[in-house]
Amino acid sequence: MILDVPSRAGESPTIGGAPATVLVSVREQDLNANFGQGHGVGWIDGVEATITINAVTDLISTGGQQKIVINDEGRIIALGSPERCFTPAQRRATRLRDGTCIIPGCTIPAGMSEIHHVIPHAEGGPTHTHNGVCLCWFHHRMLAASGWAIRMIRGAVQIKAPPWLETGARKWRNVTKSRTRMTDAVERKNVTRHD
Ligand SMILES: [Zn+2]
Repeated sequence: MILDVPSRAGESPTIGGAPATVLVSVREQDLNANFGQGHGVGWIDGVEATITINAVTDLISTGGQQKIVINDEGRIIALGSPERCFTPAQRRATRLRDGTCIIPGCTIPAGMSEIHHVIPHAEGGPTHTHNGVCLCWFHHRMLAASGWAIRMIRGAVQIKAPPWLETGARKWRNVTKSRTRMTDAVERKNVTRHD
């Protein structure tokens, strides 16, 4: 099986603003048996070294996929249409809303971030701006291990710090580094101060 994965990683080239695609091949049984389990390997077209199944599933959850299935005789037996890709319009809207990678303290611009499905596509999470947030490459890969929790409330992003960073009752906080919303927040604060 070959997965044609649109890539939006920071360094990947884009052509006319459209995401470049990465061709990933993986044995179907490895992907199905080990989705998210960390066993098996995949191959990126043009790269000699293998990548882990986790890296394959990362690429799929980041960029979506177009599934191409090749049988044992070498014949293409299935050619899917692209699935679960955020559209360029959705990517632009999400970037404008979030401003940067949403992890507090991270300054990687949203334009260099990936769009993360807050509720994973595999668990029924829609490919919609209400379920997508900007995460830089590093925080996207490290999300599960880092302990940051993300949720969307009526389309707005909230984040909860990991236990190692905030002790006691950890709070959900709204998060944005959108320039316009930060300016609004400063103005509100100034108005309060003058009252
Ligand atoms: Zn980040």
